[in-house]
Amino acid sequence: MRKIAVIVGHNQISQGAQSITPIDRSELDFNSELAQVMLQKASDFNVEIRVFHREHQGSYRREILKVYGEVNEWDPEYSTELHFNSSVFTVSGSEVLSSGSRKSLRFAKLTQDEMVNLFDRKRSNRGDRGVKTRRQGRGALSLLSGNAPAIIVEPFFGSNRADCRRMNEIGIENLAIAYLTAMSKL
Ligand SMILES: [Zn+2]
Repeated sequence: MRKIAVIVGHNQISQGAQSITPIDRSELDFNSELAQVMLQKASDFNVEIRVFHREHQGSYRREILKVYGEVNEWDPEYSTELHFNSSVFTVSGSEVLSSGSRKSLRFAKLTQDEMVNLFDRKRSNRGDRGVKTRRQGRGALSLLSGNAPAIIVEPFFGSNRADCRRMNEIGIENLAIAYLTAMSKL
C-alpha cells in the first residue's frame, strides 16, 4: 500500500482563509474534516494515509520545518498539503502547486485532473488554473522541506460565490474521493 502524508494547512492560531456562504468555514476547519474523511476512506483506494497538523511556532519557517520533520520520520512516498484559495478579486478555479520535481509534477497533474473533473471546470471552460511550479514565495517551503515529493492543493476559491456553491453541492466526501483517486493512480 502506498504511504502518503496529508498535511492540514494552517494552524489553530492562524486558520488561513475564511470561505463565504454556503461553506462559511476556515481552511483549517474545512480541511481538518476533509483529512478525517480521507483517512476513513483511504483503504478503499489502497492508500495508507497519515494526517499531520501544523502547530503554531511563532515563526512560519519553524512551523513548516517541524511538521515536515514529522512527515520525514514517517517516511511516506508522497505528501499533500490541504488548502483552499482566496482572493480580493472575482476569481474562481482549481490549482495545484508543485516543487517542480518529476514525481511532484506527476502527482500534481493527477490531482489537478481530478479537481477539474469534480468541479466540472472543463465544461464551464474556466477555472482550470493548472499545475504551478513554485520554488520560492508562498508555499515553497512546504513543497521543498520534506524528503517525499510534495504538492499543495487549492481546489476552489473560498472567496468566490460560485466556487463555494459548487463545493457545497459536491460535498466533502466527494472531495475526499477525488484526492484519493489521484493518489490511487500514482
Ligand atoms: Zn491556505
